[in-house]
Amino acid sequence: MSNALIEKNQLTEDEWENICRKCGKCCYEKIDLGGGQIVYTEEPCVYLDTITRMCKIYDKRHEIEPDCIKLTEDFIRRINWMPPGCAYIEYLNQKDTLRTVRSVEKIKSRKRPKTRRI
Ligand code: SF4
Repeated sequence: MSNALIEKNQLTEDEWENICRKCGKCCYEKIDLGGGQIVYTEEPCVYLDTITRMCKIYDKRHEIEPDCIKLTEDFIRRINWMPPGCAYIEYLNQKDTLRTVRSVEKIKSRKRPKTRRI
């Protein structure tokens, strides 16, 4: 993933979509056991082509399958069931790390004593 993408404040719809590496892992049934424990089953969504790992109804998935959730940054930040290795999780982790580094740098630069040349 490019740093330029991570540093952008707002992504276009295409940029956001292109982060997904189309692994299809999030398209398998999951069981929430509570307490942050998620079990990932081997039961795919009926619309997932398990060979290509692509959704067979992608453009109309929200109309045809009301349970299919639109993945947005806000939504992904609120849930705990995106599978390990999901590109969006990696993207958000990198984005948060970069933000933290930038704010630490900003604080450090404010605290840096002014040097005088003599
Ligand atoms: S798990 Fe993440 S990277 Fe894989 S298909 Fe789902 S959203 Fe895309």
